[in-house]
Amino acid sequence: MKDTVTLLMVGSEILDGRTVESNSQFLIAELSAAGVSVSHVLSCGDSMEAIKQSFQFAISRSRVVILSGGLGPTSDDITREAIAECCDLKLVLHGDILGQLEEHFRKRKRPFDPSNCKQALFPETATTIPNPVGSASGFALRMMGPDAPVLILSLPGVPSELRAMTTKTVIPMVRRELGASTAREQRVLRVFGLGESVVGSLVQQSQPHPDVEVCFRVQFPQVEVLCKGTKKAALDATIKRARLSIGPEYIFSEEFDASMDSAVHALLLKRRSATIAVAESCTAGAVGELLTRSSGSSDFFLGGALTYSNELKTRLLGVSQKTLRDHGAVSDATAQAMAEGVRRLTRARIGLSTTGIAGPTGGSEAKPVGTFFVGIANGKTTNSYRFFLNSTRKNIRLYASWMALDVLRRHLLKLPIHPHRDPPEPVRRA
Ligand code: ATP
Ligand code: MG
Repeated sequence: MKDTVTLLMVGSEILDGRTVESNSQFLIAELSAAGVSVSHVLSCGDSMEAIKQSFQFAISRSRVVILSGGLGPTSDDITREAIAECCDLKLVLHGDILGQLEEHFRKRKRPFDPSNCKQALFPETATTIPNPVGSASGFALRMMGPDAPVLILSLPGVPSELRAMTTKTVIPMVRRELGASTAREQRVLRVFGLGESVVGSLVQQSQPHPDVEVCFRVQFPQVEVLCKGTKKAALDATIKRARLSIGPEYIFSEEFDASMDSAVHALLLKRRSATIAVAESCTAGAVGELLTRSSGSSDFFLGGALTYSNELKTRLLGVSQKTLRDHGAVSDATAQAMAEGVRRLTRARIGLSTTGIAGPTGGSEAKPVGTFFVGIANGKTTNSYRFFLNSTRKNIRLYASWMALDVLRRHLLKLPIHPHRDPPEPVRRA
């Protein structure tokens, strides 16, 4: 089957390390959001031979080829010439574009160097793509590939210009060209509290539809399950089965741009009466930071106490000396007393607490580094949960702060809160 879109990034600066190639990343994200998949990304220097070779490769296996770079006025900008030669087309002057270029320079009180005229030359069958933020127009043309027509879109390399043109013109053109049949829909499941391999096995057991592509990505501490397909029914069925197999309580969001904090934020805004206060030890403010990331958090977040020392746990939150002596600062009893204490102190509906051993020192056999407790009190009931993650200090603190939000989320949604089956592996495999 012929692939759909190939990107060709032209510029010697990309291949000698002067420029970090970012245009393809932007194009891929925009195309992907529009349901279009990219099959190849090629890069080549500003040489006629290299551009022609890469271009031939691209048109032989794509329905759309998008080029970036080499449309400027200097002698090394030769993309238009290379495309014209490959398509056997003459370059012709577009008087309207020349007029716009002269106007562009006149407005900025800059002299118009004749070399700029080159930017008004386009292959004879091409239509121009307007550049809303710069002087170099892009162009589009259709040519016959080995067995089907291919749409060629050539854009300037300056990232801000390429981005503006992509959003405004390129995406709608590509969508029109490829039609609905190849537009791929995407769905996402955001999982917290399970490792990537566990999530992978559970999804595999649910037997995804063969026409659906399933991809996994760890964005510690969450695992993202992305399903892509052209058939909506197959996609819906796959998502439904995967959701059940993973366990719906582990899925904190099915939104693309979501994170644990935005999911909990949305939930708390819906439950207008739920006010929250936090008592933090091992997370030292990270839970409060997560809860206040989005604007509008003052509707539910009252504040809290950062009680790292035992003395402050007692003085600010009323955790008794006996509790600390008998059970230790990292314990169910202390987590519960902290949650109750901060609730009393702030008169919040819900008190949320964290206490744990982030390491690398301070662990014991009974409570190794990575052990932490999350407490939650709502005036009627007080609970605490023990968790463990074998990792670095940074990851343990991050995981614990997400876990506090997850406990709050599950509490609000009346979902079971149980020790997690297998925490995510934070170190990515090579
Ligand atoms: P111009 O008309 O501005 O000269 P152009 O099409 O000739 O546009 P280039 O000269 O190739 O573009 O690149 C202009 C700038 O954009 C350079 O600073 C270059 O480093 C940057 N650039 C080019 N290609 C890319 C890319 N693929 N990713 C990120 N930056 C790029
Ligand atoms: Mg260039």
